[in-house]
Amino acid sequence: MAKTDKKKFTMPIQKNIALIAHDNMKQDLIDWCLENKDILVKHFLCGTGTTAKMVAAKTGLPVRGFNSGPLGGDQQIGARIVDGKIDVVIFFSDPLTAQPHDPDVKALLRIAQVFDIPIANNRATADFIITSPYMESTYDHELTDFNKVTTDRANTL
Ligand code: PGA
Repeated sequence: MAKTDKKKFTMPIQKNIALIAHDNMKQDLIDWCLENKDILVKHFLCGTGTTAKMVAAKTGLPVRGFNSGPLGGDQQIGARIVDGKIDVVIFFSDPLTAQPHDPDVKALLRIAQVFDIPIANNRATADFIITSPYMESTYDHELTDFNKVTTDRANTL
């Protein structure tokens, strides 16, 4: 894709962070949130239904809940990435248990990749992200100019 098909987007200082944990990983995510509460409280949190409820109850942090993951919550978070409303995803997925909504999980990983969204699928990556200087500053990244791409496609196909 040509350089002209790219457009600069700026992540704000206060990030919109999505939290998701598969059942066997929920306690790990709660522990991680407690450990990083001082940082997380400066940002906007949301998450899949059960994860959001549990993190909010156990940490006292406000977490906006979407549907439960298997009932479309991962897709809601993916849609918000497309709309530019999520900047970071912390997703403690379970690599050892089959998930009924595996296609949704894959879709979320893919759309995060398309929109250049940092996404942690384990604790070490989450630790690296949460301690990044970009958590306290804006972050510029270049994304595909999706409007231009659709206009060009409509004109040429
Ligand atoms: P949950 O969904 O937070 O509602 O459990 C998480 C998931 O399994 O994707």
